[in-house]
Amino acid sequence: MDTQLLDILVCPICKGPLHYDKKAQELICNADKLAYPIRDGIPIMWADQARDLTSPAADAAPAA
Ligand SMILES: [Zn+2]
Repeated sequence: MDTQLLDILVCPICKGPLHYDKKAQELICNADKLAYPIRDGIPIMWADQARDLTSPAADAAPAA
């Protein structure tokens, strides 16, 4: 992904800066604890597509 895009991309919820997680291909908002996925080099900046970083990873461990 073009990292220059990061200069113009902000979180759609809090309008704060995003951190690019190259490994996970996600844009992280530390304020909202949300991770926006990057698909085919295109950041998906929709809150309903974002991964909630505060909740336990659903795919990591089965819910009790
Ligand atoms: Zn945010």
